[in-house]
Amino acid sequence: MRSSATTSAQARRAFRLPAALTGRPSRRKEGGDAKGPGMSEEAGLREAVCRFGRSLFERGLTAGSSGNISVRLSDGGWLMTPTNASLGFLDPAALSRLDAQGRLVSGHAPTKEQPLHTALYDTRRDTGAIVHLHSTHSVAVSMLPGIDPADALPPMTAYYVMKLGRTALLPYYRPGDPAVADAIRGLAGRYSSVLLANHGPVVAAKELEAAVYATEELEETAKLRLLLHGLNPRLLTRAQVRDLVTHFNLDASLAEGDADDHDHSHEGHA
Ligand SMILES: [Zn+2]
Repeated sequence: MRSSATTSAQARRAFRLPAALTGRPSRRKEGGDAKGPGMSEEAGLREAVCRFGRSLFERGLTAGSSGNISVRLSDGGWLMTPTNASLGFLDPAALSRLDAQGRLVSGHAPTKEQPLHTALYDTRRDTGAIVHLHSTHSVAVSMLPGIDPADALPPMTAYYVMKLGRTALLPYYRPGDPAVADAIRGLAGRYSSVLLANHGPVVAAKELEAAVYATEELEETAKLRLLLHGLNPRLLTRAQVRDLVTHFNLDASLAEGDADDHDHSHEGHA
């Protein structure tokens, strides 16, 4: 990356996202020490969480004070959006800073949905960020009859397959019920994308930007699913999914067909 220090380049860099979560070790740790990540890492992530949060909120992808975002720091701790905070009006300095044990170190108390996040981080070790929204179309799909809990949305577009693979549907739980974290643990890290019935999606990725984009892709796919409800749409075939898996080196299990050679064409009738 070019290092021209213009304001817009800095802004783009903050938006695009910190090297810290790409797996590249942060060597420019101004203010960093043996105990914690460099300030440049944490400060950049604080800005990025607020920027992405505002973007999601302003586009109506989560309303009121719903939804939450977390990112993992290189010392094993997290930044998390605070409880009762609107994603549209986050303050970088007020984000919840947690240590590697999940204890609050500074900032406001974290989202009550912290257990959702923790369960996904625990079971998917390469997770660097998680986005949870109450996005309308995804919530709507979670309430339809006949949704396959192991594969909640059919492969309608290549980007859905590439960014999310498959989405698991978990049953309804009362907000704050610790059982939802147990249910996520029960998925044993097989899904980066989980839909909570009558509630909303939880999406994990290596970096914040990827988690946000994947959550948006999930919402768009849910929207298509609803638009096409009952219209028996032509979905990607198993051969097309297999081609994506090979070409983009995706999780091989995506290419596995069901024993009954099912071709997803029933989805339009579900
Ligand atoms: Zn929620």
